Amino acid sequence: MNASSPVMPAVLFTPERRTVLAERPEPAATYGQVLIEVDLTGICGSDLHAAELPVYAPGHILGHEVTGRVHSVGDGVDGWQPGQRVAINPNGNVCGTCRWCRAGRYNQCVRATMETAVGLQHDGGLAPRLLLAPSTLRPLPETMGRVEAAWVEPAATALRAVRLAGDVAGRTVLVTGGGPIGQLAIRLLRLAGAGRIVLTEPAAERRRFGVASGADETLAPDQAGEPAVAAVIECSGNAAATRQALGALEPGGTLVVVGGGPGSGLDPITILLKELVVRGSFTYLEEFDEVIPMLADGRLAVADLTTDVVPLAATLDAIASLRRASTMKVLVDPHR
Ligand SMILES: [Zn+2]
Ligand SMILES: [Zn+2]
Repeated sequence: MNASSPVMPAVLFTPERRTVLAERPEPAATYGQVLIEVDLTGICGSDLHAAELPVYAPGHILGHEVTGRVHSVGDGVDGWQPGQRVAINPNGNVCGTCRWCRAGRYNQCVRATMETAVGLQHDGGLAPRLLLAPSTLRPLPETMGRVEAAWVEPAATALRAVRLAGDVAGRTVLVTGGGPIGQLAIRLLRLAGAGRIVLTEPAAERRRFGVASGADETLAPDQAGEPAVAAVIECSGNAAATRQALGALEPGGTLVVVGGGPGSGLDPITILLKELVVRGSFTYLEEFDEVIPMLADGRLAVADLTTDVVPLAATLDAIASLRRASTMKVLVDPHR
């Protein structure tokens, strides 16, 4: 980069695996790529742990919960016009030829999820502009709220986790961890007709959010849990919570692991004796498109879960407040 190259501010994950504010060259539309003007980018819980998570490759701009508009389109791109409103599927750069892509299991495509995921191994949306493969773009209705548009990615993650719990209609379901994914899971379980929803969460503030989300009961982890639940959506990534979840499941119950953390707390004897089903839930498939109308028409409400919209320069402070669990979801407006 020479002195005359335009630069832009960005939240960078450095080669030393630190998260810093930095200046980066401003991208321009190149062949086969689309330049996005970022509107809002959410800070994800996993961004707080980027330094410890191998899936975060150093040297990239963070931010994988991104909404914006097409700014300009490179040669060789069909179907996208400047001004179109989009959500970014950060795992959308699928190869189309691997065995998982051919089987429709795009969330197992190595290129899409482990090599070029937006905001992880490819520059993300914590910057004013972002150059992307067109396959990562999903159209959004103009009528959709601005904040709602920024929740598509985490909502898709939560929807897949709830789906993998099986038929929850009339059943008792435990959600462990009351962060954004846990709150979305509670709301989606309500929509799916769950009979009774219990949340376990250490932070009192987040337990209050759980009530607003529609949980019938909210408990601190040291309070007695439900003796027999049909399914658990594990959103905390906490080993003790995962262990507790196994204990709470009734025979034949399903544990959905969507909050990954070190040390599983999974006891094989408990799994064996109760013939439990343990399922991982990784990103999303069609759920990404399915949550867009749910957020747009208000079936899935998220405005109350949005703590703040901050300028890019406040991102590091926002990450610190999320670490303390004193906020729920902070969105970054890189043009403010
Ligand atoms: Zn995330
Ligand atoms: Zn593939």
